[in-house]
Amino acid sequence: MKRVFNFSPGPSALPLPVLEKAAAELCDANGSGQSVMEMSHRSKDFKPIIEKTEALLRELMGIPAHYKTLFLQGGASLQFAMAPLNLAGVEQGAPRKKAAYIDTGVWADKAFKEALKYADVSVRASSKEASYTHIPAAPAPDPDDAYYHITLNNTIVGTKWNKLPETGAVPLVVDASSCILSEPLDVSKFGVIYAGAQKNLGPAGVTVVIIREDLIGAAPSWTPALLRYDTHVKEGSLYNTPPCYAIYMVGLVLEWLKNLGGVEAIANINREKAGLLYSYLEHSKAFLSPVAKAARSLMNIPFVYRDVPSDKKADLESRFVKEAAAAGLVNLAGHRLVGGMRASVYNAMPIEGVKALIGFMEQFEKNL
Ligand SMILES: *Cc1c(COP(=O)(O)O)cnc(C)c1O
Repeated sequence: MKRVFNFSPGPSALPLPVLEKAAAELCDANGSGQSVMEMSHRSKDFKPIIEKTEALLRELMGIPAHYKTLFLQGGASLQFAMAPLNLAGVEQGAPRKKAAYIDTGVWADKAFKEALKYADVSVRASSKEASYTHIPAAPAPDPDDAYYHITLNNTIVGTKWNKLPETGAVPLVVDASSCILSEPLDVSKFGVIYAGAQKNLGPAGVTVVIIREDLIGAAPSWTPALLRYDTHVKEGSLYNTPPCYAIYMVGLVLEWLKNLGGVEAIANINREKAGLLYSYLEHSKAFLSPVAKAARSLMNIPFVYRDVPSDKKADLESRFVKEAAAAGLVNLAGHRLVGGMRASVYNAMPIEGVKALIGFMEQFEKNL
């Protein structure tokens, strides 16, 4: 069997023990004589799977009792619409509600643009002028803001919020797609946390939403049933057929994480992994991290050549990505919008993968 070190930003590598368990159970899950893919979502066989997945998520994240957890579809991109619809949507003809957005990159901007359709949202701070290489100072919300939205980890540029904005009574809504479960998070500080699964939780197809109870049920009457949080809360994420297999896989990933020691334990490993790569980049003669130190992501680590003539840049970047792939280190190209290189080192990336990458880069430098 061939396994590479996969630095893909998403969908991303899964822990090998998880894939092996899924393979072993593929045709007969739990002695049911069926694959999880073949089960009715309302069957006695599937019920314990979704219940176990939810219980593990609640345990690992320390989710307080007054928060609901949902397994939805549509990715983080659908949450860009669901959050404003449910938290700030109004009946037809009523005055629009306000909400605050902080612009820290492509995903934050997409979330903002989608919310414009449903509410009177505005960007209160942005780091766009600096190519998003830092997190801007976060202004206080207006008292009548329905919510305050940030992207907790910016997957493309490799920044993260190390200190949350103070939003007082205004609920903080966060896109945690690329950092959920990478380090401890005090859930009680948030109104809504949402995350597509395909970076740190499992395969694509399921989106986790964690929502404070008092924020549920305010969607305007014209909201499609499937886009209302209260629809899914009432039905325990079983209003319609959920992505059963993806939920099952998230359960296996959470079990793996629990066996490893939980979020504190993986956070230590993640800090060590990122620390190795950042300190190499600081001393490298060929590469550097373009991101401000105080804002560096643990999960997505972009790097660029220190100085190359602009006419050679694209060639050298593709040479790096190609030679790395030949050495078993794949998906290291930067996002198509920003170029350069990027190593995504989510929970499932072992420290050996990061060490192998650094070893490769040291060798590559010598041959430049
Ligand atoms: C990947 C990603 C998204 C997009 O997620 P989809 O599941 O494709 O909708 C949104 N936000 C962040 C921070 C991401 O990393």
